[in-house]
Amino acid sequence: MKIKCIRTHHLRDHLETPFGFSQWFYDTRNTLWVEIVAEDGTTGWGECYGPSEVYQAAITSFYAPRLMGQDALATDVLWHTMWRASLDFARGGIMMGAMSGIDMALWDLRGKTLGVSVSDLMGGRYVDQVPCYATGMYFKEMSEADLILSIVEEATCYEQQGFQALKIKVGKNLAFDIRQVEAMRKALPNMTMMADSNHAYDLPEAIQIGRVLSEHGFGWFEEPLSPEFENQFRQLQDKVDIPIATGECEQTRYGFQRLLSTGGVQIAQPDLAYCGGISEALKIRSLASSMGINVVPHCWGTMLNLAAATHFLASGYREPGRKEVAPSLLEYDRTPNALRDELFDVPVRVENGVAQVPTGPGLGVTVKEDAMKSFEVRETEVKA
Ligand code: MG
Repeated sequence: MKIKCIRTHHLRDHLETPFGFSQWFYDTRNTLWVEIVAEDGTTGWGECYGPSEVYQAAITSFYAPRLMGQDALATDVLWHTMWRASLDFARGGIMMGAMSGIDMALWDLRGKTLGVSVSDLMGGRYVDQVPCYATGMYFKEMSEADLILSIVEEATCYEQQGFQALKIKVGKNLAFDIRQVEAMRKALPNMTMMADSNHAYDLPEAIQIGRVLSEHGFGWFEEPLSPEFENQFRQLQDKVDIPIATGECEQTRYGFQRLLSTGGVQIAQPDLAYCGGISEALKIRSLASSMGINVVPHCWGTMLNLAAATHFLASGYREPGRKEVAPSLLEYDRTPNALRDELFDVPVRVENGVAQVPTGPGLGVTVKEDAMKSFEVRETEVKA
């Protein structure tokens, strides 16, 4: 089964209301989808997390020509073909993100060809449902007092929809962050809550807010520090009583080996659309497992990445293992995104805050190709 054609689709949607986090504001949603067609017409779909135009160039000009005519089912062989082709100048970054979207599409294609789901290919499902946490509560352009009211109101809606867990953004400024944490816990005393600073704090600030999160019973502190200061994670962990989660900016088993070896990270968060794809995420999971660390993917984008993360969690053994194991939580972004919500005939079904693991072949979600065209900025095609 040879690869006959690789297309990329840069999709964009403009947001009615911009929203932000500790680093910047979004006014559009963009994604780069990868469509790989085998010689029998079977098609696999994948997604890249990051700047679509750059991904489109990397795939169209560099990786796709190298994959034409290769065995479409040989996911690991193709991964290492791409890795060796770009290792000398791109051990990570955008090139690895481009490889991730290709790899995800190849897993979808392999599952469709063999008539089994991606979680079957990963070794089977421990569960058929995965509880989600709602990601939202982003910043908006309004006074800080109004913003806290708005965030609490949004969180209350998720509780009413059945979510038992959610994640807020922190890292705006320390005074606001502390007020927000206090208001959220007061309004939702029984909710499982996590907080994400997107690497906004220096070490003294992270210690201070980490202690506040711990006092208010938060479940994890995500990206408290810059990924460039790996050794600070252990220093932070020694001073706060809350699990540290990070890894959405990290890639490959090699990168995670360095990060997790610091001993300062309890939850590893690779993004399957960026870390090296499904193939590499499984290797990262093996590496983390050998250190007693669980992997809970970062997930931001469309149903392709959400489906991949759902399969990944459903097929994951949770260290150290016990009969009544606490389930890992799937990140379910609730910010506006037409590219996630309007472009799939068969989406990942989420009801009462719980995702059903797709059972159809491949990723188990089906793209509405006609609807996709109305969001398309640019399509590229490389043929054998
Ligand atoms: Mg995050």
